[in-house]
Amino acid sequence: MTGVAPHCYGLRMLIDAHAHLDKYGDDLKTALAEIEAHRILTWAVSMDPSSYQRNLEIGPMCGLVLPTFGVHPRRAPEYADRLAELSRWIEQSPALGEIGLDFHWVEDSSQYPAQKKVLEYFLAAAREQGKIVNLHTKGAEKEILDLLERYDVRRAVVHWYSGPLDILRALADYGAYFTLGVETVTSEAIRRIAREVPLQQILTETDNPGGLEWLNGAAGMPKIILRVIDEIAAVKQETAATIARAVEINFNRLTENDPWLEGFRGT
Ligand SMILES: [Zn+2]
Repeated sequence: MTGVAPHCYGLRMLIDAHAHLDKYGDDLKTALAEIEAHRILTWAVSMDPSSYQRNLEIGPMCGLVLPTFGVHPRRAPEYADRLAELSRWIEQSPALGEIGLDFHWVEDSSQYPAQKKVLEYFLAAAREQGKIVNLHTKGAEKEILDLLERYDVRRAVVHWYSGPLDILRALADYGAYFTLGVETVTSEAIRRIAREVPLQQILTETDNPGGLEWLNGAAGMPKIILRVIDEIAAVKQETAATIARAVEINFNRLTENDPWLEGFRGT
């Protein structure tokens, strides 16, 4: 791990575009200190209303944290018939996520209509309110592409993509951004995906603390993002500084002129 702060790359900040800060428990203070020390702008996605409440408490503790509301596809069945209850959180949230579909880890296909119903409710709101979405697409990549097109949601971050390469290319052509994360370090399939994503559409993520935990049992801490940058650099045959800079530029392009994020970007 390089262990450098972003100013060593000539940057204002590093980007973690998908993390679950509400799940840190006792490690939260340490995590926030790392975020500050390495200046990692962190998009704190939520799984459901209570997860968002916790992220809203965490937000004011650190100026680099952006809490957003979403209902994870695994939680969707609970909310499919209570969509109106979600609207006040959606309206309050400056961007939306984690939302999406999961037809892989969720094997019970009777849940898929509920997942779709909740996702479509969020996408309709994203279009109406002009908000960026942070998407879970596992096993449902084509469905996600179709829904983005149908709802004309143009600003999308696809988190930890692991689907077919032809759909990846179609999502990239559509203009989606892709977060590459800790699995870039361990998986040849993910490195193949990393090679495919255009440099100007790459973002970085940790999916902390669970992302690394899922891979090797150790809770992920924020500065693992430096390792992710190194790994993407190796795959792309670029320097870590080039990757970190590209990611910062990409994030700025994605969020520019977004009134919901005014005062947050890079401050
Ligand atoms: Zn996640």
